[in-house]
Amino acid sequence: MTTDLTIELAPSSSPRSAEERGRLLRDPGFGQVFTDHMVTARYLPDRGWHDARLGAYEPLTLDPATSALHYGQSIFEGLKAYHQPDGGVALFRPEQNAERFQRSARRLAMAEVPTGLFLDAVRELVRADRDWVPTQPGESLYLRPLEFATDPFLGVRPSRGYLFLLFASPAATYFTGGVRPVSVWLSTEYTRAAPGGTGEAKCAGNYAASLVAQAQAAEQGCDQVVWLDAIEHRYVEEMGGMNLYFVYADGRMVTPSLTGTLLPGVTRDSILTLGRDMGLDVSEGRISTEDWEAGAADGSLTEVFACGTAAVVTPVGEVKHTHGSFTVADGQPGAVTMKVREALLGIQQGTAPDQHGWVQRVA
Ligand SMILES: *Cc1c(COP(=O)(O)O)cnc(C)c1O
Repeated sequence: MTTDLTIELAPSSSPRSAEERGRLLRDPGFGQVFTDHMVTARYLPDRGWHDARLGAYEPLTLDPATSALHYGQSIFEGLKAYHQPDGGVALFRPEQNAERFQRSARRLAMAEVPTGLFLDAVRELVRADRDWVPTQPGESLYLRPLEFATDPFLGVRPSRGYLFLLFASPAATYFTGGVRPVSVWLSTEYTRAAPGGTGEAKCAGNYAASLVAQAQAAEQGCDQVVWLDAIEHRYVEEMGGMNLYFVYADGRMVTPSLTGTLLPGVTRDSILTLGRDMGLDVSEGRISTEDWEAGAADGSLTEVFACGTAAVVTPVGEVKHTHGSFTVADGQPGAVTMKVREALLGIQQGTAPDQHGWVQRVA
């Protein structure tokens, strides 16, 4: 079908002025300022993907019966475009996002966006809105691809029609206040994902189900929730929307294995490689909350950090649970955490060599 679909370019007739853009870019925050354009494409079984178009960023008009609103066939991605020292713009491993988007679509019984269409959409949008790519260190243009079911039908079955959308949002750092350790709440009451569920897919519903636990973490005075396995509530899976790494005094660095209930992060995967480049003994394994607390108490566990596209690498400080709290080392950002963070940012921002071919120039 239409894998070689070309994107029609219909630039906005009313882009914001350079002055207005400059004002918005001064303090973009995260996810609240949107650029002038978006890409849309539609899917129907008999037509495949069609009507791919880059046009003005604008509201959608939806039938109230649109099935995604009722039954949640809705998936998304998150990746960034980074300003480069020579004035260009680069993406970080975008094909990984394209492939994960397809895996998410399969899990939710949705039409898969061809990798070529996904990557073309990203390139065209970044080119059209390249003046929106912020240039300060740590800043980036966050790209949000999403796809949802469009059939106006209340019967429960996979939709036939789908809409693919891509838009962009200039981003300062995700967590305000710079690199500050986050405090976490170990949730034993709620779970993010269960075996056989949708934990591996980047679907909207996973986030909807997580919000009450995040609110509970906040009530406990914590920044973020840590998800444990659904069966024993013992094994560490993720932190909010980020993966976790545990750093030990003996040079080991361990991240929870992809058991099917974790979201396989591109950042997590990249750090498996970067950690090895740094000479660390990196592995995937099972970490219980008892191991976490015992390792903190006897000093064998020296650092814990979370990682994801939005917040890059973020140290984890205080840990709270129903029976008390503890802190790993002195609760300050650790040396390995900061080294991994700098290594990753260096590659993404073009200030360190790209030894693994992860960076793609788009403008
Ligand atoms: C997106 C996401 C991550 C991080 O994935 P990256 O590809 O590194 O951005 C981790 N956990 C969850 C639940 C996510 O949704």
